[in-house]
Amino acid sequence: MIVLKSRREIALMREAGRLVAVALAEAAKLVQPGVTTREIDASIEATFEKAGAQPLFKGVPGKVPFPAVSCISVNEEVVHGIPGDRVLQPGDLVSIDTGCRLAGWCADSAWTYPVGPVDERRQRLLEIGRGVLELAIAECGRKQRWSEVATLMAQEVRRARFSVVEDFVGHGIGREMHEDPQVPNYLSGSLAKTDVTLEPGLVLAIEPMVNAGGKSTKTSRRDHWTVVTRDGEPSVHFEHTVAMTAEGPVVLTSAG
Ligand code: MG
Ligand code: MG
Repeated sequence: MIVLKSRREIALMREAGRLVAVALAEAAKLVQPGVTTREIDASIEATFEKAGAQPLFKGVPGKVPFPAVSCISVNEEVVHGIPGDRVLQPGDLVSIDTGCRLAGWCADSAWTYPVGPVDERRQRLLEIGRGVLELAIAECGRKQRWSEVATLMAQEVRRARFSVVEDFVGHGIGREMHEDPQVPNYLSGSLAKTDVTLEPGLVLAIEPMVNAGGKSTKTSRRDHWTVVTRDGEPSVHFEHTVAMTAEGPVVLTSAG
């Protein structure tokens, strides 16, 4: 069931979104060669703690509960990487995904950062990934249904000769991090049947994942969380929490 949010509720989600943006901005300053992913996670945890916000990722149930406040996924890792002793190297791509609940309302955002200069293909992958998120947000203000947006997202990635990940999708968000509806970044069969109307009050975490190689992914048997590309090619992930309003889409997870 899709729960639409009032203007007042969206304003509260904006506060949670601003905090997630601040946490990511602080984390981004640490994205340098020689830094461990654990140090980045600690920075995010400190930002949430100082603001009295509840981290949403820690303790998420799985084979083992997720142990950190952020997912940090490097290079061929798509999503759900566990922060730890891994030391960032020049040329890496680092995806940082995090979310919090503040005063009862959630926000969720992710961004992929380069560690120093990256090769041309990775640079292009970053630009396409970010561009597809920006395209989706803009089109939410022009189209009636999510399927129209998802079709354009997939087209854009195909044109660049990269692949959209289909194993993970965006989602509604509000009092809970994951609410209805699911919003795939491609035109899925189920979406064709039960489409999502882009109406004021709908709040979505829009989160394309783009692979340089094929779309297939698998979950690590070592830690039961980290999702990697099957072909070992790099991947990027860009996510914003976005509210549909009568004046158009509003990004809630921005710092401004
Ligand atoms: Mg996220
Ligand atoms: Mg999400």
